[in-house]
Amino acid sequence: MTGKNLDRKVILKKDVVDGLLSYCKIKHPNEAILILKGKSKKGTITVDSLTIPPFSYSDQTFAGFPQSFLPFDMAYVGTAHSHPSGSAEPSVTDLHHFFGLVSVIVQSPYNDEDIFAWDSQGNQIELILDNADVEKN
Ligand SMILES: [Zn+2]
Repeated sequence: MTGKNLDRKVILKKDVVDGLLSYCKIKHPNEAILILKGKSKKGTITVDSLTIPPFSYSDQTFAGFPQSFLPFDMAYVGTAHSHPSGSAEPSVTDLHHFFGLVSVIVQSPYNDEDIFAWDSQGNQIELILDNADVEKN
């Protein structure tokens, strides 16, 4: 019984969702990559801001950054990147470059329902958009 993942979740603030989706759209058709800042408490990861990683690079199939250039910061809870084509499933490369606690992947066309969260094993984590109750369409 591996029910461990069930009590983990990721909460994205509305500003974060808006910023993430617009950044993905700007970068399209290349991949976008951002660092998620926030906090983790009892399995709940709350993301309250985004940071553009220094020296990031991206093309149509991969986006990354050299982790050695990052200052050590406990507020870095993971990364978010886009998949301009295909699904939001993490690739082998994504899992190999896993950073932090969570990997958020946004698939094209980059709407609220195109955002997914994954752990380092490639298991999906429940994702809650902070604005979900306010504006449901
Ligand atoms: Zn990817």
